[in-house]
Amino acid sequence: MPFHRFTVGDYEVFLFQAQPHRTIEVADLFPDVDQEEAKSAYENEPQWFAESEQQLHFTQTIPLLRGKGRTILIDTGIPHETENAMLFSGMAEAGITPDDVDLVFLTHRDMDHVGGNFRDGEPALPLARYAIGRTEAETYRVDEVRNHFPTFVGPLEELGILDIVEDDAEIAPGVKLLLSPGHRAGTTSVLVDNQLLLVADTWHTPVQIPNPHWAIKFDTDPALAVESRRELIERAATDQLLVAVPHTPNFGLGSVVGDGTARRWKPTIV
Ligand SMILES: [Zn+2]
Repeated sequence: MPFHRFTVGDYEVFLFQAQPHRTIEVADLFPDVDQEEAKSAYENEPQWFAESEQQLHFTQTIPLLRGKGRTILIDTGIPHETENAMLFSGMAEAGITPDDVDLVFLTHRDMDHVGGNFRDGEPALPLARYAIGRTEAETYRVDEVRNHFPTFVGPLEELGILDIVEDDAEIAPGVKLLLSPGHRAGTTSVLVDNQLLLVADTWHTPVQIPNPHWAIKFDTDPALAVESRRELIERAATDQLLVAVPHTPNFGLGSVVGDGTARRWKPTIV
């Protein structure tokens, strides 16, 4: 099944597989984590690793919320023309067409999150308004490293269908933004009905729950990313939130259980 469906408050939530499952090298993703530390993480929780402490499971899912008269897509995935792009075929299997989406919220600037904004030169969600948080929009616009604002977001602005919203805006009834900077300057998480936390790329793998100091090499500001990660992990545990993490296996759905270094990820789907 290319999607998982459940309900939270008045929203029906879909998590769509956006890219196929794959493995990634720990040394590539976490260059500052030494072999011993990786080995100990592997011994504690081998299920997040592929065959040894050197490789982690990796994937991507994209959430869609439907309720209160709204259909909201959170991020658009890799470009639809890419061979591995799975979002739209998954939506079709769930009976949802691109025309059904009336709001697209962009959590941050990475290609696997904004790459699907357009298809064949037209907005890929043709009837939707697109929205992005103010901090992310303003820093993305002038980003010299990830300099694709003019490709993926600028044209939405020219078409008059982009809303730059406050970092703590309520973008739909009960759907609130939560700035969680560090991975990108304005990475934005989303809290649904105070029950479901969509963490964007605040963390990537369950190994980072007991080890929030593991900063991936792509984090723009690793120290700030660690701080945001600690805060959200703490909040998820304290408020007993359901959590969806885009790059975590099993549709990235689960909860944070336990205390301190004994804290760990408990997947909903096993
Ligand atoms: Zn990502």
